[in-house]
Amino acid sequence: MTDADATALPADGERTPVPHRAICRLARRRVLWLAASAPLMMGASMTADAATPTGASLLTAPLSLAGSWRGSAPGDVLAVLGRMRAACLDGIRLVSDRQPTALRVQDVASGPPHVWLHTDAPGTAIVAVDVGARDWINLSYQFGHELGHVMANSWMWGDAPRNPCQWLEEAVVEAFSLRGLGRLAEGWAVAPPFPHNNAYAAPIRAYRRNLLEQDLAEARAQGADAGLGGWYAAQAGFLATHGTVIAARPAVPAVLELLEADETAVADIGALNRWPERSHLPLGTYLARWRESCAELGLAGLLPGELARLLKPGR
Ligand SMILES: [Zn+2]
Repeated sequence: MTDADATALPADGERTPVPHRAICRLARRRVLWLAASAPLMMGASMTADAATPTGASLLTAPLSLAGSWRGSAPGDVLAVLGRMRAACLDGIRLVSDRQPTALRVQDVASGPPHVWLHTDAPGTAIVAVDVGARDWINLSYQFGHELGHVMANSWMWGDAPRNPCQWLEEAVVEAFSLRGLGRLAEGWAVAPPFPHNNAYAAPIRAYRRNLLEQDLAEARAQGADAGLGGWYAAQAGFLATHGTVIAARPAVPAVLELLEADETAVADIGALNRWPERSHLPLGTYLARWRESCAELGLAGLLPGELARLLKPGR
């Protein structure tokens, strides 16, 4: 990216960022993916399947691009994706035995961001986003949410979302992305990926704040600010059949607080869904399996433990 390009970005205070809520789904249409991706791969240095180094983690797995990216330079897109991935995962223990060996990010013309479940390239996690040219904030936010799903072991062919506990995964990965955005802004202010672009940290912060304020307002509207336990008791029937990030929003601020208080809680996301039923379990059983999975991987299990405490009736 050149200095001239940087001046086209929204400077501090020039606009109020408008969040694009990630209404993600885990797509599972192999044939369509193959048709869409074939002509769009980047050059050899930007493809992932050629390099699957032993010992790669979600933080170090090669990133590649597919899609048109609508005028954004591929190198710039990769720079931002790399920054956001590091913001989300730097310093986090990554111990899942289901980590991809490569990560491909595709820009799709329209539709919600999602993880593409597929059978080709079995070691490659594929994330789809829908962003305009050089909209680095929205790119980071959408990518962060879907990266959270990949960390939560929801990226392979058999990993379709399942109720009644899909909502909890959505709350966790949404909070994961908000945590990442905050850290992305901190790094951008000090050492931006593009020349003379330090001021872009301000709109990143404003965008994150706007999203969080929406979640807090929804939490207040549903009484979740008075305790997640009472909120869950009232909403359990709805949540059991609405496993979306929209339904999960009232829980996001509380999860974010847990993730920002202790990095070991972030690491626990890597232990999610490592059992055959995945999220197709009652909440108590789901959280118990998550804690057992943490123990198997040598993780503390702080996040499922705290969520079990917070979601108890009367809390
Ligand atoms: Zn999602």
